Amino acid sequence: MLEGRCSPDRPVAILSFQSHNDRSFLDDRELALLSGRLRDEGITNDLVVGVIMPDGVGQGESDVERRLVHVLSSYDPIIYERVWDPALIERLRRALPGTVFVGLRGEHRLADSAPADVFCDDNPMRFLATLVLWLRGQTPLAPRGTLVRRFTADGAPEWVKPEPLVVVPERASRYAPNLRPVVINPESLPAVRTFSLVGNGGCPFQLDARENPLYAGTNIPDGYGRGCAFCTTGNHYEGRPNAETAASVLEQIRYVRTHAPELSLLVLKDQNPFGYLTEVIERCAVENLTGFTLLLETRAEWFLRNAARFDRALGIAREIGLRVAPFLVGIENFSQPELDRFNKGTTAAANVEFLETLWGWKEQYGDAFDLTHTAFGFILFSPWTTIEDLAVNLAAIRKTRFDRLRGSILLSRARLYPDTALYYLAERDGLLADEFASDREDASSRYGYYPSRPWRFAHPNVAHFATLATTLAERTGSKDMVRLYEALLAEFDAAGGDWSAITAEDVWRRYQVLAGEGGRRVTAGMAPASEALRTRLARLVRPLPFDGTFAGGWRFGQVSAQPGRIELELRHTVEAPLVVEIVRHGQGPHFRRSRHYDIRTAAHECTRAQREALTALSQAIADNDH
Ligand code: SF4
Repeated sequence: MLEGRCSPDRPVAILSFQSHNDRSFLDDRELALLSGRLRDEGITNDLVVGVIMPDGVGQGESDVERRLVHVLSSYDPIIYERVWDPALIERLRRALPGTVFVGLRGEHRLADSAPADVFCDDNPMRFLATLVLWLRGQTPLAPRGTLVRRFTADGAPEWVKPEPLVVVPERASRYAPNLRPVVINPESLPAVRTFSLVGNGGCPFQLDARENPLYAGTNIPDGYGRGCAFCTTGNHYEGRPNAETAASVLEQIRYVRTHAPELSLLVLKDQNPFGYLTEVIERCAVENLTGFTLLLETRAEWFLRNAARFDRALGIAREIGLRVAPFLVGIENFSQPELDRFNKGTTAAANVEFLETLWGWKEQYGDAFDLTHTAFGFILFSPWTTIEDLAVNLAAIRKTRFDRLRGSILLSRARLYPDTALYYLAERDGLLADEFASDREDASSRYGYYPSRPWRFAHPNVAHFATLATTLAERTGSKDMVRLYEALLAEFDAAGGDWSAITAEDVWRRYQVLAGEGGRRVTAGMAPASEALRTRLARLVRPLPFDGTFAGGWRFGQVSAQPGRIELELRHTVEAPLVVEIVRHGQGPHFRRSRHYDIRTAAHECTRAQREALTALSQAIADNDH
């Protein structure tokens, strides 16, 4: 057994593995709290953070792994929770012989795949201190929930309960997370890190998938199946009265702002914080708690339902220099059949309305409503996706400019876990698979999540579409996804029943034509501008010559229009063309606003020359639009 295996002289390491260094980077709040709790219980420990990109996993030792081993060599035991590839732990174990590894239960219970010496099948906040004392030989009793890995005579691993076990009672503890982790590779962390605050745990959206007619005949085990079908959070909810939650959130804000003021991005973990959010921001104003951004995770339609209260919160935030940022908001899809399969309990229309409202808030509140952290939930490909779903999604993404709020749209795929309802829907439909068609199709390893169950597409044409999308996204460096999406759909549309003959080169050619048009959107209902409109436009852009060049060689190209909207193509002999839209004031981002018009571009990223042309054009319009 492991009792007494660790020296009391060596500190404990709590490992936090990160796979992202972009805006969806996750702080391990629970591990920071655990570290603080152990510290308060007199156990010296460090939270050790390492960023390891999933691409590097499985390729043997990397520089960061060597640094990790070096740092960890002074700790025992080493505790970890989230790891997307058990091979990483296996390598650490080989490099640190004799050190005890402890796996914690995370979002999904995966004892079988945890290559640890000990697995903690309980709440570590309550019992980890006792476990460490047991490992150090300072108590004879292991806490209940401890599983120890041993090997049978034929070498097979198995988990056993050590004897005797003790039930560790719940003890009150103060809020004191460890906000100063030991970082293995600080250069890989985002410049500004987030830290999470907790409002109410779980999710109050508890629609039971068993009551969804689409789920008839599925075998969802007890304890699972509530909430959205791909998520486990809806299986529980711990709602507290609003005043109590507000007081708790304020305590956390005060602590973090006092002890680590450099943590200026605070994620409020509460799927429906609107009952107390306005009061918290009012209190921040009174206590002068400002200079940070509060990131929100919630459902789109709850945002809409609480729009009036949220408006008030934004008004106060703007006055005190605090920013509120929608962060993880689950849009998931714009096609109703997919939303219904996801047991999302909302409509595609509500998603669109939310996004239009969001652009309106941005317009009204400016910097106080921060859209630079959005990492909205979206699942383009599920096992059941049809080409019609894909077409509906592209149209809505364009309409709402959703691609500005969420990256890598063409790579987003459902992840199936046996504790989510969607898994059992795929099981019923015979769509679970033994392995993914290729590693590229494994969304879990791509984004550093727990390994998920492979699945296959019900519709072979969508499977081919998704494979081409992944291949071509690599060519564009995961950029310009909407245009690539458009090229794919157009190619499938043109091929009809011959879709299986479509090659990546076919789509690429079409994509390049679209890209060569400067991102020009083939907008339904647009028609070539009349002579009268061209004359009016020529007046609007003076002194820029309608038939000559300006801003270093730019000239006007095709002009098309529909009521309330003009599309103006800017051409250049060397630069890629650029399409500029002139529309009546409305919601959504714009490059510049004149008295009556929003001037905007469909291009996702402008070159410097394109930007100069756009600046000259919008200045002229602003000067002439009285
Ligand atoms: S996806 Fe969001 S809304 Fe749905 S159950 Fe999970 S946390 Fe709740």
